[in-house]
Amino acid sequence: MGAGNGFCNGIAKCSMLGHSVASKYTQIVPSRITDLTPSQPLFGLSRAELAAQMAEAGEPAWRGQQLAEAIYRQRIQSVGEITTFPKELRDRLRAKGWNVCRTRIAQVFRSVDGTERYLVEGVAGPETVETVWMPEGDDGEAGDGSEDEGPFGSAQDRDKGQRDEGQRDSGRARATICVSSQVGCAVNCQFCLTAKLGLQRNLTTGEIAGQVVAVLDRQNVEIGRDRVNLVFMGMGEPFLNYDNFMAAVRLLVEEVGLSPQRMTVSTSGIVPGILRFAAEPPEVRPKLAISLNAPDNAVRSQVMPINRKWSIEAVVDAVCGIKLRPRERVTFEYVLLAGVTDLPEHARLVARLVRRSGLPAKVNLIAWNPGPGIPYTMPEPAAIERFRQTLRAEGVSVYLRRPRGRDIYAACGQLKRTVEG
Ligand code: SAH
Ligand code: SF4
Repeated sequence: MGAGNGFCNGIAKCSMLGHSVASKYTQIVPSRITDLTPSQPLFGLSRAELAAQMAEAGEPAWRGQQLAEAIYRQRIQSVGEITTFPKELRDRLRAKGWNVCRTRIAQVFRSVDGTERYLVEGVAGPETVETVWMPEGDDGEAGDGSEDEGPFGSAQDRDKGQRDEGQRDSGRARATICVSSQVGCAVNCQFCLTAKLGLQRNLTTGEIAGQVVAVLDRQNVEIGRDRVNLVFMGMGEPFLNYDNFMAAVRLLVEEVGLSPQRMTVSTSGIVPGILRFAAEPPEVRPKLAISLNAPDNAVRSQVMPINRKWSIEAVVDAVCGIKLRPRERVTFEYVLLAGVTDLPEHARLVARLVRRSGLPAKVNLIAWNPGPGIPYTMPEPAAIERFRQTLRAEGVSVYLRRPRGRDIYAACGQLKRTVEG
């Protein structure tokens, strides 16, 4: 959180690293400085960790459950708001430096299409990251018919969602939140604006889950009533921050109450990460999307240099081990770059790769979103259509992702903390 929020920066970092640092710190601070209470950030801790904290404070373990409920379900932002705790306990914990320290939305950009892009302040450092709210999804991960169960999935309900637009507390048709996993990215895809930032740091578990809870809060989303999809497709490569990413997913599933079947993580093709992910239990494993983005190794190595480390075949083969749930499909994302990846012969090679996976799969086409200083050209509508038809003729399920919030730099690959609206 920002400097104005007190201990969530600086000293909080020490206590997040563990007690050894905190106690070392205590030793070197002269004893007369008594008002420097090290902060104990709570958001991001699991139920068991919260229970352990409560035990350390001399309280029964069930207080940890109340704390988890308050932080993740009721979305309280300060210890003083935990109404299930007696006032004496709240005061005592506050005096010990306990602090929720949830990520905070610092700036909002609203697109003409209803998409909102947020600059979100982290907790473990001063950098902001980006989170995007798309009220009606993007026709990519959702809206393809594969996930149309649930009360807000029918055309009728979608119409209702549109009628109700503007009413914050209304039921909505499959809103989607796009979540960041790192500040910047190290992968250096040549078409992506986030790559220009380089990697600044990994987000913590709390910062990843905190983006979601902050947006749920802002949009008055009621879990169980409103239908929300998550896509881990914001800034960063989730599989290069694997432990924090998966710990955040577990919190979102187990504590916040979101379904992993409504979550999709996208990777540029980090093979060891894909292998680990494939072995995660289905109760907490999101769906998988692979950024294929090219028809063969020659083109892929040019547009995604990471391909020199893990080839296109190695990536596709790594996916094969995943045990899909009934009706689940793997997504192959494919960014169309005019003249580079959008030709019909490319589509035929993509179909071969999809067949190679041997899994139920679909291809999400993404027309390249332009960004300053990136030397590619947007595909012509006719080329997009030709590509789509060629894939279809090859028997591949294919969807075109609608660009959302291009006017506010919220679309795929445009997240670079642009501060202009
Ligand atoms: N790092 C992960 C997830 C974030 S990027 C990954 O690369 O998969 C999410 C998706 O946006 C990826 O499929 C990526 O290929 C795509 N993308 C990146 N830059 C883009 C751009 N300028 N236009 C369209 N899609 C882009
Ligand atoms: Fe990183 Fe994904 Fe952008 Fe590649 S496309 S630079 S992996 S965020």
